[in-house]
Amino acid sequence: MTTERCPNVVLGAGAMGLAATYHLARRGEPVLLVEQFLLDHDRGSSHGAARITRHSYADPAYAQLMPAAFDAWRGLEADAGETLYLRTGGVSFSPADVPYVSQVASSLAGMGVAHRRMSGRDWTQLHPTFLLPDDFDVVFEPDAGMLKASRALEVEAELAIRLGPNTRILEQTPVVRIDLEASRPTLVTESGRIEADRLIVTAGAWTPRLIPALAERLQPTRQVVLYVRPTPYQPFSLGRFPVFIFKGPGELDAFYGMPSALGFGVKVARHGGSVIDPAEATREVEESEREPVRAFLRAYLPALAEAPIDRSEVCLYTMAPDEQFQVGHPKGRSDIVVASPCSGHGFKFSCLIGSILADLALHGRTDHDISAWRFDA
Ligand SMILES: Cc1cc2nc3c(=O)[nH]c(=O)nc-3n(C[C@H](O)[C@H](O)[C@H](O)COP(=O)(O)OP(=O)(O)OC[C@H]3O[C@@H](n4cnc5c(N)ncnc54)[C@H](O)[C@@H]3O)c2cc1C
Repeated sequence: MTTERCPNVVLGAGAMGLAATYHLARRGEPVLLVEQFLLDHDRGSSHGAARITRHSYADPAYAQLMPAAFDAWRGLEADAGETLYLRTGGVSFSPADVPYVSQVASSLAGMGVAHRRMSGRDWTQLHPTFLLPDDFDVVFEPDAGMLKASRALEVEAELAIRLGPNTRILEQTPVVRIDLEASRPTLVTESGRIEADRLIVTAGAWTPRLIPALAERLQPTRQVVLYVRPTPYQPFSLGRFPVFIFKGPGELDAFYGMPSALGFGVKVARHGGSVIDPAEATREVEESEREPVRAFLRAYLPALAEAPIDRSEVCLYTMAPDEQFQVGHPKGRSDIVVASPCSGHGFKFSCLIGSILADLALHGRTDHDISAWRFDA
């Protein structure tokens, strides 16, 4: 059995762990990142070509963090010398009796973020690829867009190694458990122990297994993503088609999508899925999982409804009550920071969250207002 030591250890190399590793390294800290699979694997929450980014949040606490999140991405782009954010504009729409769009519009107005509120009829006239009922409530945010997800993770890993005094990434190293009783934060692996002064746990859907006190609050769910290839595809390409979010009256009545870009077709998916064990999530997609997405498309984006599906992906959400991010310390362990900022909307914050996790680990506090985030472990 071996014992490794490093002042800063990060468990989990998804969007959050890689961002934390990059920020620690950028601040001159040695850091060891431990991952059970290979980097950019497809078994967690962060793989895939792109994710939506937007200020358009119904909850103002999240909307108000978005300017800092956009800044964090610009900082990463500057370090990398490449673009990771693609401005597409974003449209949110809901039936007139669902308050989602009015809440989003009120968040945007409160922050002075450019947007235009309109009816379904106005939107369909502007964008005939959509077919919205006349009385739908619609808001368009021109600065919404896409983040190059897999590329961002690759860039963060490269920069963490290039900018840090001593960055190591241990792939294919499953952590069997976290020894919460040890005097120093300690990971137990199959071959030994890894000890730290400070530990950041960003284990995505595996967090409840590693921190059982969070098990009741965190539920991994299975998400299915479809990529369709319409003919003609030009009206759905980058530069012409926006990212979109639909929120209906029911909990599972939520869908989103983005233009064809980065070599992929038009991405469409339902926000929400069945609760699963991450170890048992199969990759095969059933017809019963495709059909609700097709039904949504038939109603509001008919040209996409019968388009061939040329790829599907399975991804995991880690859902928390009210879709709030869970970030904090296990009881009595200020030297361990646990972060589960998922609930299906964490990626856009990940670069900022990496910096916040570095703040919390190194200084025990952050200047960013994260009072809306919950943690009851
Ligand atoms: C289909 C889908 C679409 C999404 N769309 C958007 C979007 O448009 N916009 C947006 O902002 N957000 C979106 N999200 C949410 C966002 O992607 C997640 O919030 C984010 O990726 C969570 O990252 P994470 O690092 O917490 O988790 P993960 O990416 O799952 O990373 C956790 C890592 O920890 C590792 N790990 C776990 N346990 C162990 C262990 N015992 N030992 C070693 N390693 C371990 C895992 O292997 C994994 O690599 C989407 C998510 C999905 C699934």
